[in-house]
Amino acid sequence: MIVMKFGGTSVESAEAIGRIAGIVEGQLARRPVVVVSAMGKTTNKLLAIANAAVAGQRDAALESLEELRQFHLEESAGLGVADQVAAHFQELTELVKGLAVMGEMTPRATDAVSAFGERLSSIIVMARFRSLGIDAAHLDSRSVIVTDRRHMQATPIFAETYRRTCGTIPALAAKNVVVMGGFIASTEDGVTSTLGRGGSDYTASIVGAGIGAEEIQIWTDVDGMLTSDPTILPGAYRVKQCSFAEAAELAYFGAKVLHPATVLPAIEKNIPVRILNSRRPHVEGTLITAEAPRSTSPIRSIACKRNITLVNIVSTRMLMAHGFLKRIFEIFDRYETPVDMLATSEVSVSLTIDNIGSLAAITKEIEEFAEVTVEENQAIVCMVGDNIRYTPGVSSRAFTALKDINVRMISQGASLLNISVVVAAADLKSAVESLHREFFTDPDPAAFEK
Ligand code: ADP
Ligand code: ASP
Ligand code: MG
Repeated sequence: MIVMKFGGTSVESAEAIGRIAGIVEGQLARRPVVVVSAMGKTTNKLLAIANAAVAGQRDAALESLEELRQFHLEESAGLGVADQVAAHFQELTELVKGLAVMGEMTPRATDAVSAFGERLSSIIVMARFRSLGIDAAHLDSRSVIVTDRRHMQATPIFAETYRRTCGTIPALAAKNVVVMGGFIASTEDGVTSTLGRGGSDYTASIVGAGIGAEEIQIWTDVDGMLTSDPTILPGAYRVKQCSFAEAAELAYFGAKVLHPATVLPAIEKNIPVRILNSRRPHVEGTLITAEAPRSTSPIRSIACKRNITLVNIVSTRMLMAHGFLKRIFEIFDRYETPVDMLATSEVSVSLTIDNIGSLAAITKEIEEFAEVTVEENQAIVCMVGDNIRYTPGVSSRAFTALKDINVRMISQGASLLNISVVVAAADLKSAVESLHREFFTDPDPAAFEK
């Protein structure tokens, strides 16, 4: 069995779904389990509708909902699922009206709304496959992926999830292409939850690990993992192969092509992951495995994370004092705010966060024992490569490339796998361009494709 995950653009229309049917058909012998995202930008639209409803714009919300209903009905016309689609929109309309009355969004309600994208797309994709002659069966992911109750960012309960995926999917996949929605799950009490934005990739790897798939394929709108974020630097090169550790690091530091948790289940069961382009299926993509062949380039790719906030904490009392860092991290931890990068000096600590929801409260607590300054609009640029540890002089090359840019913070991870710098958002593009020029002017043809 293999898992084939298709992202939003790969299922954005009847035509796109027709294209992926061709891709799936080509691999029927490997018994594919298909995981799909919501169609196009449906998740964003659902969240905007819910937000409008609670903000007192009930009519505007219902109008957008009607547009989304029309879109789903049109793209599934002729497939015999109009009643099912209409019933989903009926349920969703009740929910949105309820939100308008309540005037408040809880994480649980947010999940109830955003789950409709994948609930609908999985039904529509299954029906399109059938109409094209593929024996397809729909599986509601919420009946097999079980999570904790942390809505909007739920963590799978692996033992139970693996028990259910293994108990259901192989038998179904023996005769059918199983089609299921990514991103959506349910708690042990059966309440709809989600795995966080971009979570369909994670669903694919959870399912892959649960059924012991031979491969997990992530079909998207780019040729694979590229040497930099193509929205920042167009014309980046395709990385032919990378390691699980490199992919995890790149995803964590902003390479949106993979959800950061995706490789974890794959590592656990040592299942290769492939990133492929559903518009250019002949391109080999990127193969991610436990170890990737060494190349002459020390860097595999440059990731970046925008909307970063830099927090500087200064205290003369830190001088010689122990327990200072513990006190700081205990506060970030209590507010469930992850810290990405960290640098210390004798009297100061600088750190970066990307979730500023609790920053005011955090700052207030830290100000009881230290001075805090906050700088918004920063970005992290992260160079990743297993080879960094074997190659002397990588940092000096990086800093020479960045000589005209004001680097706010530097860190080389203990994994020796990454070198990260923080720069002002305004300098991000030129920082990435300079680093890419430095490390990829003459890329190793065995490792990269221009
Ligand atoms: P999908 O809907 O298929 O899940 P996403 O939009 O989540 O697709 O992820 C694909 C996008 O990730 C690409 O279109 C690209 O803009 C972005 N991206 C960011 N960094 C990278 C990178 N290093 N390599 C490839 N794509 C990247
Ligand atoms: N549809 C969800 C999102 O937009 C999950 C995904 O696409 O991976 O975040
Ligand atoms: Mg994605």
